[in-house]
Amino acid sequence: MSDFGFETRAIHAGQEPDPRTGAVVPAIYATSTYKQDGVGGLREGYEYSRSANPTRTALEECLASLELGARGFAFASGLAAEDTLLRALTKPGDHVVIPDDAYGGTYRLFDKVESRWGLEYDPVAIADVDAVRAAVRPGQTRIVWVETPTNPLLGIADIAALAEIAHEAGALLVVDNTFASSYLQQPLAHGADIVVHSTTKYAGGHSDVVGGALITRDETLAEPIAFHQNSMGAVAGPFDSWLVLRGLKTLALRMERHSDNAERVVAFLQSRPEVSQVIYPGLAEHPGHAVAARQMKRFGGMVSFRMAAGEKAALDVVEHTELFILAESLGGVESLIEHPGRMTHASAAGSPLEVPSDLVRISVGIESADDLVGDLEQAFERLGR
Ligand SMILES: *Cc1c(COP(=O)(O)O)cnc(C)c1O
Repeated sequence: MSDFGFETRAIHAGQEPDPRTGAVVPAIYATSTYKQDGVGGLREGYEYSRSANPTRTALEECLASLELGARGFAFASGLAAEDTLLRALTKPGDHVVIPDDAYGGTYRLFDKVESRWGLEYDPVAIADVDAVRAAVRPGQTRIVWVETPTNPLLGIADIAALAEIAHEAGALLVVDNTFASSYLQQPLAHGADIVVHSTTKYAGGHSDVVGGALITRDETLAEPIAFHQNSMGAVAGPFDSWLVLRGLKTLALRMERHSDNAERVVAFLQSRPEVSQVIYPGLAEHPGHAVAARQMKRFGGMVSFRMAAGEKAALDVVEHTELFILAESLGGVESLIEHPGRMTHASAAGSPLEVPSDLVRISVGIESADDLVGDLEQAFERLGR
């Protein structure tokens, strides 16, 4: 399928009409085990659904195709994917560089779980190439872990530059591509070794499933991940795999619309005196704009902004929208709004990853842009009343 365009691969990669019935859509194979044609006579390798399941295989092949990787792996959640990656590719005493505004759950995984097994980590401003170079310990650093854009401050990391730094030090570059999505950014093409997704977000796209994925550049990296996926067992179930597979079919259309709507919302926020700063990589004044323009197709649906009047105003805005739903998570068709300091990033309070208290994060959905702007406008009008 590799000669086809992204939209074609999103709909067809890993998915053939069923040979028996002609069903166009892959079946949900709700089965734990498979009949063997004589002992060891497996049909297409299927033996037990922790090891492999046809619905999950379809998703894994589709994900690999979209990220231009060798192999894809689907997990029960983004964090399950991350944990599997870390246990497959690191050992006690190894060192990892992580973003200083990493996703809160990722930070907690390093800080409270992996560190107990002897994995060392340093949070670094990964938009700063020199800071990453200084933090890498040749011989000890096993992974440079990057999110771009980051959450919730939408910092941009230069994937190609960081791949070079990581590789010179004998480390791997892992990119959490959740915020950009496979449509807007393909990190493996810029030198990354492994891509991580919370498919809960844009890949699934409808806020109806929790899932995760890993995509490797080559087969050598795929081997330990395949072994650990089966050995640890945090796999995506068939129904969840099917939901993500369906979500991927419209990913390109959705990301275009998310980006259109975000641009409208950004323009509105910039016009408001209550807002002290609008953070969006599509803005020329964003420090990562040039790098983002080089490695992303467009700038996506995530927008953050700071309220001039401080935390109270930020809390008022998130509580006064009617269309934007006050909720954690992101990447669905519906618009969401949240206060990172008290919600998604509450676990980072008091740590180097603490976020500003006047910050509001929105996941701009694919509703009518006029309605979204109108909703924010009425929330601003109600401030201080
Ligand atoms: C949500 C998220 C995760 C974790 O994924 P889950 O599916 O919630 O386990 C990791 N990274 C980023 C950037 C996320 O937004």
